[in-house]
Amino acid sequence: MNKTTFLYEGKAKKLYDTADPNMVIVVYKDDATAFNAQKKGTIIDKGIYNNKITEIIYKKLASEGIPTHFVQRLNDREQVCKKVQIIPLEIIIRNFIAGSLAKTLKIEEGKEIDTPILELCYKKDELGDPMINGTHVIALKLATAEDLKTIYDLAHKINTILQKFFIDRDIILVDLKMEFGKLPNGEIILADEISPDTCRLWDKTTKHKLDKDRFRRDLGDIESAYQEVYKRLQ
Ligand code: UDP
Repeated sequence: MNKTTFLYEGKAKKLYDTADPNMVIVVYKDDATAFNAQKKGTIIDKGIYNNKITEIIYKKLASEGIPTHFVQRLNDREQVCKKVQIIPLEIIIRNFIAGSLAKTLKIEEGKEIDTPILELCYKKDELGDPMINGTHVIALKLATAEDLKTIYDLAHKINTILQKFFIDRDIILVDLKMEFGKLPNGEIILADEISPDTCRLWDKTTKHKLDKDRFRRDLGDIESAYQEVYKRLQ
């Protein structure tokens, strides 16, 4: 399958149409951004690792019955995905307190939570992706109540599957961000990448960070963190 028309360039990926109207090709870049794109940089070969890590994770999720947009990886940086209409929400699930929540609530990063926390953010760069709740989503018609129920259910299932998948590889899934899209028949499926760009991943024993926080916080050893996640997932 080949790229035809260029569709869209995001912060970490480019999107192309293909000859099949139901399929797109996603190209993973090495560009990294943080803090609503105020910080920019390059993480060498990040696109290759995130493409391959996303493939492994999506295959695992599909094997557990989760509907996803992933079709196949084409090469180092490209994958074929089903074309969906993205629901403009970021669904974040947290198993430990970290990042923006640690800051907002002034709770020490790393505290484990008994019940996963689910947050919704409205995907709108110019607003800085503000946090909203389910009633905003329904009132603003970003999704229906029924869609939202499906999304919550899928998000919790995905978190449970991935928590186990990662811990079996000595990695703690601290939190993760998911996006969902709609197929022309109305079915809601998981879309976008799941990678160290979109999850917080800590080594089980040392709590060493193996994710984009190394870039956000200038912690060094960024490339080797992405490599290490890929190595452990293979
Ligand atoms: N996240 C993401 N994209 C975003 C915002 C957050 O992938 O635009 C991920 C982030 O990598 C982390 C989780 O969502 O794994 C929770 O992020 P948080 O709200 O703590 O925000 P951040 O610290 O990234 O500002």
